[in-house]
Amino acid sequence: MKRKFNFSAGPSTLPVQVLEEIQREIVNYRGSGMSLIEASHRGAEYEAVHNECIENIRTLLDIPANYQVLLLGGGATLQFGMVPLNLLHYAGEGSTADYVISGVWAKKAHQDASKLGKTHIAYDGASTNYTTLPENISMSESPVYVHITSNETIGGLRWVDWPDTGTVPLVCDMSSDIMSRPVPVEKFGIIYAGAQKNLGPAGVTLVIVRDDVLQNSATQLPAYLRYSVHAENNSLYNTPPVFSIYAMNLVLRWVKKQGGVRKMQELAEQKADLIYSAVSESDGFYTTPVDPTYRSVMNVVFQIADASLDSTFIEEAAKHGMVGLKGHRSVGGLRASLYNAMPVSGAEALADFMRSFATRRR
Ligand SMILES: *Cc1c(COP(=O)(O)O)cnc(C)c1O
Repeated sequence: MKRKFNFSAGPSTLPVQVLEEIQREIVNYRGSGMSLIEASHRGAEYEAVHNECIENIRTLLDIPANYQVLLLGGGATLQFGMVPLNLLHYAGEGSTADYVISGVWAKKAHQDASKLGKTHIAYDGASTNYTTLPENISMSESPVYVHITSNETIGGLRWVDWPDTGTVPLVCDMSSDIMSRPVPVEKFGIIYAGAQKNLGPAGVTLVIVRDDVLQNSATQLPAYLRYSVHAENNSLYNTPPVFSIYAMNLVLRWVKKQGGVRKMQELAEQKADLIYSAVSESDGFYTTPVDPTYRSVMNVVFQIADASLDSTFIEEAAKHGMVGLKGHRSVGGLRASLYNAMPVSGAEALADFMRSFATRRR
């Protein structure tokens, strides 16, 4: 079977070695006579996978000891609510959380927070149609946290240097670029990410939270919504998404084997460069709306100047085994997502196709 190059924004492509390993192990897990997904989440076999997964995250992201690594359900979307529930809603009168509105995902995070407490918009990219990021953000007087989105999956832009929030916890949605570059974890109060872009199949959400933030979080909430309940129970308070965690661990082993996060960064830049070069060398046949300083290396957003060619581009690309290139319905155009598991050969194939399409259709 010839595998397609899957440029989807999420769920997204996984390393074929990981898929094959799952296939080998899914019925009879390492000679145990049953599947791991049938086994108790409190049994030795699952627990070994669970703990190795957390350990791999710690090692790969170089997470300091005063941070807890949580594996939760609900996607990044649940974190849009869980962050303000834990840190804002019960924080007392006048408490404010600051939000940087960099695009669609940041907006959604802000929307949920504003239902739960007072928020302040520290930057809003609306006037540039969310194609750039600020050099400085304008924080409120003493916010309980500042929320940013490291990589806007739909708009195709990303933070390069992290904003300095002093002693105020910086909370970051890293769903679409976690593990694609080294991150100074010590600068953040909370980092969260849904798995289905760079970490594995959908179903598990990674939350990295600093101890003092944990200690300051609300105790009035139902158990599942409290970070501290998950931290105290090593993310085994209830049944965790065992299949997703098992698969994520295989992806993390694969990342390690490839050379870790620095290697992922090097490859991501190489892949993105291939596509951005095909755009910039096209004499205006293709364009990209994003400020070059902040453009994403995970989600390359581009357009054909003659937008009526979009559907032909997508159809022809599909015939060449390249799928998932349609831009998000809210922005249109085209988008190539180049997550960790996308091989360089996939980006090369797309860049070649873009050049030949432009030559034939200009
Ligand atoms: C995909 C995505 C989300 C939503 O994640 P779910 O796991 O589907 O809830 C949130 N933020 C960003 C930046 C994303 O890319």
